[in-house]
Amino acid sequence: MIRCTHNSWDKAGRIDNISLPRGLVSAEIIDENLELEEDHRRLFYVALTRAKKMVHLSHARFRSEQNKVREDLPSIFLNEIPENLLQKNLEVSRTDQELTELESLFLLSPEPSFNADEESFLKTLVNRVILSPTAINNYLTCPRKFFYQNLIRLPQARSKSAAMGSAIHAALDRYFKEYHRKKIKPAKEFLTLNFQSSLQRELLTEKDYKEKLEIGMNILNDYFDAFSEQFSADTVTEFDFKRDGINIDGIPITGKIDKIEPLENGLAVTDFKTGNADGGMQKLTHGNDYWRQLVFYKLLCDRSPQFKRQFQDRPMTVAKIEFLEKSRSKGQFLCPSVNISAADQTEVIANIKFVHDQIAQLNFEKIDKSEPCNHCPFYDLCWKK
Ligand code: SF4
Repeated sequence: MIRCTHNSWDKAGRIDNISLPRGLVSAEIIDENLELEEDHRRLFYVALTRAKKMVHLSHARFRSEQNKVREDLPSIFLNEIPENLLQKNLEVSRTDQELTELESLFLLSPEPSFNADEESFLKTLVNRVILSPTAINNYLTCPRKFFYQNLIRLPQARSKSAAMGSAIHAALDRYFKEYHRKKIKPAKEFLTLNFQSSLQRELLTEKDYKEKLEIGMNILNDYFDAFSEQFSADTVTEFDFKRDGINIDGIPITGKIDKIEPLENGLAVTDFKTGNADGGMQKLTHGNDYWRQLVFYKLLCDRSPQFKRQFQDRPMTVAKIEFLEKSRSKGQFLCPSVNISAADQTEVIANIKFVHDQIAQLNFEKIDKSEPCNHCPFYDLCWKK
């Protein structure tokens, strides 16, 4: 994390470096400042905990402002990190060769710089952004990916796996809607034929179409055989929050839930996932993408008038992922659920505020060329000269 300075992190939350005793200034002002400081502390925590193994924190001692060099202080949040977790390296000196190497790295990965017109256009786009779980996850994975995918919405070709995933989702949606409408469970063929017709609409070569048709048919056959006994006519699919106008402290949010099923005391909310279930389980651990997505759904369900109306105020009590392909290591379907605490919701709200704050400042830096880049559709754009 670069720029861990007083100027970047503490200024809005704490304007006084020496705190005044309560009573000297109005309690209201102190409370407001403390609240702001707490917000910034949470943002700092969220940024810090993106690291999986280790995080480097740096701050410059001087900054340049209006052609003047000014001294800068480290952020107060740096001092709050327990000493035993830190490995301080205060004096950094580099050889000329190292500096040249570093310089070339920065040249390869320039920060986006926008002229005044671009900035004003981007700010218009930013003002229209409605944050979804995918948008938040994209930003936290790589701000530049969010920029391409969620802000300027560069057109992309769908990969053949994504095309198959989308056709499977569409087939399940039509199947459950048909069951809901007629109250008679449709046969397996209704599901597989719908999958076939959805896949035909995807832009695939003949070879890719045949390959994905066979794989998708096998997935849906196995899924139907394993779970059709438990299918319910009351299941609702593709529940969309987009017309609800939900916001968190003025930040608009939205999302779409794949499947909602009534339970005795509440509702089970499910997201379908195609792809490797074993890899997917990693993403369900605390602080990772699927976990954040389910907590996000809880925030939406609890705040949505449409959801409350449609399900007669029944709360969302179960949040789970259904992996539609069997786990390769276990040879069976995995349907893990997540317990969502109030602290989890506070953490995801902090994620939402962090992303909102960063995009408002037009911070869309690339990550270091690392693992997510290998599967990213914007690889050539980012790394090929
Ligand atoms: S290629 Fe890497 S840096 Fe570029 S948008 Fe994708 S994840 Fe981000």
